[in-house]
Amino acid sequence: MPDFRIVSSVPFPRMGRMSALDPQRTITELKELRATTGDESGAQRVAFTKTWAKARSWLADKAKATGAEVERDEAGNLWMTLRGVSEKTLLIGGHIDSVPNGGWLDGCLNTLAGLEVLRRIAAEGQPPVTIRLVDWADEEGARFGKSLFGSSACSGNLDMAEARGLTDKEGVSLPDALRGQGIDFEQVRKSGSQLKNAAAYIELHIEQGPVLLDLDLPLGAVLGTFGVERHAITFRGQAAHSGSTPMNRRKDAFLAAAKMSPEIYRITDRHGGVCTIGSCLTKPGIVTSVVEECRITLDQRHLDASALAAMLGEAQEASDRFAREGNVAVSWERLWQIEPMPFNDELIDFCDEAIRETCGESHRLPSGPLHDAAEVARAGVPTVMMFVQSLHGISHNKIEDTKEEHLELAVRAFDRLAAKTIDWIISR
Ligand SMILES: [Zn+2]
Repeated sequence: MPDFRIVSSVPFPRMGRMSALDPQRTITELKELRATTGDESGAQRVAFTKTWAKARSWLADKAKATGAEVERDEAGNLWMTLRGVSEKTLLIGGHIDSVPNGGWLDGCLNTLAGLEVLRRIAAEGQPPVTIRLVDWADEEGARFGKSLFGSSACSGNLDMAEARGLTDKEGVSLPDALRGQGIDFEQVRKSGSQLKNAAAYIELHIEQGPVLLDLDLPLGAVLGTFGVERHAITFRGQAAHSGSTPMNRRKDAFLAAAKMSPEIYRITDRHGGVCTIGSCLTKPGIVTSVVEECRITLDQRHLDASALAAMLGEAQEASDRFAREGNVAVSWERLWQIEPMPFNDELIDFCDEAIRETCGESHRLPSGPLHDAAEVARAGVPTVMMFVQSLHGISHNKIEDTKEEHLELAVRAFDRLAAKTIDWIISR
């Protein structure tokens, strides 16, 4: 295995850089945040709670110390701005909110690495372009079941009618909860004005999956976020006595549904992407009856829209074939859908370069989970994300972890990405 630390200690040729950037400080601050806003079950920074507000004011104070101006927008997003010579702006994003019993890195690594980049840039004097660190409000959607609240309000993609009707477990509506935070729900989309001068958006995140771990690589450049097609598929046959009905006389809804299982593996063999049958319900669901009705759910994801459409079409065609073979009926119902969100090609190249300069080898990979970055990309801002390896490939759990040496490399590579992106913004 290559020794990444030796490679990464090659001095970076820009003046003043090595002195200001302190990746170890990011790790110290991550631990401080864990100690002050977590407990033995994990991180407890659920959006719009006291603990979240405490974490945010801690972050805001640190940003102010760099000379950044701090403001909160109409959707509750926190913006920390270093004014540059040009109004053209590099955005660096993250989310300090967590799921209940969350890990110590999801979201807050992004913001704290961004803070460290802000410090490095501030130490070099007024930057040539404006630099803004944004802490998105309620990325996780842990309380109201709706992810990417602040970033989708900002990108203009928040479904206001749907969001207006959301309630938490206690029956509190989202607009009422926001009012308690001094946020007027009807005004949240005004936060879109914050993107006015945005020239690029970058975000560091833990991978939350096993791809980089399996490749034994610390960092990867993210190609974009998967599009998703999510459907319920219901096969309808006939209930019949399990003892008296010969095999050749059955209309077995389960048999047809079960054939879908190996089929989705064949579909991903052809197209890549991922498919999951995550649920299977049978009726009447008793041991002595042939299955009359079988409802399965199918979740399909791909980075490429036409490949995703082909995957869906092939699954539909297969279901028709299996229904015909089994003399049963089949119907489809769309549960949810989102388009793939590819990131900016030039920024992906910079991200790749920054990673190779920092630790020798890079890898390009799509993101299965959605991130705030997808919303910013959807708003038309050139966007890229960098992933750092997750141990165990696990997140949204207190066992979520990343090697400290990889966190250090991540901060270094992310800072290089910021520098390259600033140069790119100036050149355009
Ligand atoms: Zn996250």
